[in-house]
Amino acid sequence: MRIEADLDRCMGTANCMVVAPDWFELGEDDDQVRVLITSVPDDQRALAEDAVRRCPVGALRLV
Ligand code: SF4
Repeated sequence: MRIEADLDRCMGTANCMVVAPDWFELGEDDDQVRVLITSVPDDQRALAEDAVRRCPVGALRLV
């Protein structure tokens, strides 16, 4: 499982970074999310779902 980000939607609110600071960062130039984790471990699925759920604009999804 991985996390995809839709940069057309991301508003740079950083909610995802609050939930999982090791998995996301904001671009220095554009304040849009970068997904740092390439694969979500099975035992951290709940954390990934929480990060996705807390995005206010629905820019993240699990695939
Ligand atoms: S929570 Fe959503 S809008 Fe905010 S930085 Fe993360 S992906 Fe972008």
